[in-house]
Amino acid sequence: MSRRKLIAGNWKMNMTAAQGAELIQNIKAQFADCGCQGCANGPEVLVCPPFTTISAVVEAAKGTCLQVGAQNIHWAEKGAFTGEISGAMLKETGITYVIIGHSERRQYFGETDETVNQRVKAALANGLKPVICVGENLTEREKGVTLPVIEKQVRWDLSDLTAELMASVVIAYEPVWAIGTGKTATEAQAQEVHAAIRKVLADLFGAATADSVRILYGGSMNATNAAGLLAQPDIDGGLIGGAALKPADFATIIKAAK
Ligand code: PEP
Repeated sequence: MSRRKLIAGNWKMNMTAAQGAELIQNIKAQFADCGCQGCANGPEVLVCPPFTTISAVVEAAKGTCLQVGAQNIHWAEKGAFTGEISGAMLKETGITYVIIGHSERRQYFGETDETVNQRVKAALANGLKPVICVGENLTEREKGVTLPVIEKQVRWDLSDLTAELMASVVIAYEPVWAIGTGKTATEAQAQEVHAAIRKVLADLFGAATADSVRILYGGSMNATNAAGLLAQPDIDGGLIGGAALKPADFATIIKAAK
């Protein structure tokens, strides 16, 4: 089965609405040949701005294949959850994807596999495609427990999901030690974990589903290392932080996925 690659930019807490719209214009300008990114056999391309920048980016991306996503979602439909945002609110903005369980959410905001699972279910219930982040920290890698740590996260985060729902799910393997540090997993390290995730998916949902789910790599992917990582058999795209804010670098990564 051939999986269409997905190149996703995580803008984190960067870009006001005006700056975000300008960044989209600059990304579009990198694709003057076809006037579009993500079309004609290319990868699907996604950008995930902060909540208040989403509408401006959706507007700026109109007429292109560029998808827009959010960086978090709350599990409840509505209510007394100050500072949170619901699936319906996100859906109304025109987005299609939502990042869930990013390591920065887990590290700084107490996100757990249980809350990740609740958020994943809320995204799916609202017709949004979750990009679920998993990854080991440096201590876990050095102790040699990377694969069991990832397996536990994947099983928890996907609790109660069906093979049918998995058609809308994307998983991002993001070693915590590689995020924003300039350190990247080697192609072999990343491929090993991606293959292990696919094995867990096969155990949970069957071989056909495991074969169809996209697994992205994230962690200092850039214009230089993208091609090698994206050439690995189980790496179906990238979740990109820093380089997604640089139009020329982001465009190089997109082209490397073609
Ligand atoms: C991320 O934020 O998901 C990420 C991978 O960041 P960076 O590319 O900057 O390491």
